[in-house]
Amino acid sequence: MTATIVSSNGSGTKENGKRPYPPNNHDIHTLSVHGKIEGREAQAYHALATPIVQTATYTFTDTADLCNFMEAKMWGGLKDRGEYGRYDNPTVRSAEKRIAALEGGDTRQYDALLFPTGMTAVTNTLLSILPSGSHIVMTDDCYRKTRQFANTFLARLGIETTTVPMGDYEALEAAIRPNTRIILSESPTNPYLRVADLERLAQIARQHRRVKTIIDATFATPVNVRPLTYGIDLVIHSGTKYLSGHNDVMAGVVIGETGLIHALRQSQGMLGGVLDPHAAFLLERGLKTLALRVRQQNATAQAAAEFLEAHPHVERVWYPGLPSHPDHTIARAQMDGFGGVISFEIAPIPGEDPLDTTARFIDAMTIPYIAPSLGGIESLIEMPALMSFYELSTEERLSIGIKNNLVRFAIGIEDTDDILADLEQALARI
Ligand SMILES: *Cc1c(COP(=O)(O)O)cnc(C)c1O
Repeated sequence: MTATIVSSNGSGTKENGKRPYPPNNHDIHTLSVHGKIEGREAQAYHALATPIVQTATYTFTDTADLCNFMEAKMWGGLKDRGEYGRYDNPTVRSAEKRIAALEGGDTRQYDALLFPTGMTAVTNTLLSILPSGSHIVMTDDCYRKTRQFANTFLARLGIETTTVPMGDYEALEAAIRPNTRIILSESPTNPYLRVADLERLAQIARQHRRVKTIIDATFATPVNVRPLTYGIDLVIHSGTKYLSGHNDVMAGVVIGETGLIHALRQSQGMLGGVLDPHAAFLLERGLKTLALRVRQQNATAQAAAEFLEAHPHVERVWYPGLPSHPDHTIARAQMDGFGGVISFEIAPIPGEDPLDTTARFIDAMTIPYIAPSLGGIESLIEMPALMSFYELSTEERLSIGIKNNLVRFAIGIEDTDDILADLEQALARI
């Protein structure tokens, strides 16, 4: 089972990358398992797995111990111990360092901050950076709740959002105003897997002194693309998806330069959304197999996309690994693999509502579960029209680009041939 465009090695130094990744020769598979580029380090109790430090607070032996700690904290000294559960947890910290290493390569330059969900990572980051009266530029085809947060909560704070079509860089540049503070995009997007030209995005932002770029790279994972190496300021992931990878835990994370993450951490202490240590343990365990899982998902998705594109009952396939995808060229240059999510449109049958035709196909699939979400070991399939956009009318859906015959298939780690056979038999039953 091979997919020619899928690289097995995510660590190649790309000619067009801005910063070397990673700084030494460790492959992303090795980084996934070990989470660091330095040598061995002592673990608590000599335990190989990170212990779950299930505590809400931390104790001081006497008042002198407390004062030493407070002095160090006041002067920005190194904190080698915890104070209170909302500020510190060693299990959470371990997972953060591991993600910073995967995403940025260098854990002295980059840091990560974990949240209890992907949405808290998004909301905490935006609330922390945006002053009232500021402005944000967002690309369309992005996570529905992120869009809703900007258009409701941020609007209430006097923060305006301009949405520009994904891939229209002139419109993006034209949308920037003197009060713009953030350019936010997903890459690849949901559900059309549009891929942003990260280098171009970073370049546009750099011409405006106070504009920060944020990429929600949930669909890519650091195995497939590392936006920080292209000069992007912050990367966000829903850790619920590929990073944890088992559909059994929720988490979110933001990664960027140490100073910026420190500022976001201060806000987190106030906003209060912190990851539970047991969730952090599950996330870290998932990260150890990240490269293995994503490589398998890349390969199956590529094979499934090619199969679907050639099938007469499929009208259109959206997958950046296909030359027919509008962003194939940039995806090839920028990504080491194209991810595990495919969107496709079932060919309509004359005289039948496409919702019914498509639902029949979904019901005929036997391997994937019908569920929202993606990135886990189990394949999941859904019709966006009946899931995230159920309450909208056909016309309202079309106005935001969601067709009734659209299927989103989030591929798991099942055998590639089994997935292809399942697609074939389900399409035959349309
Ligand atoms: C799932 C998802 C989120 C939200 O993450 P939660 O962990 O569900 O809060 C944000 N962005 C993208 C692209 C997602 O897929």
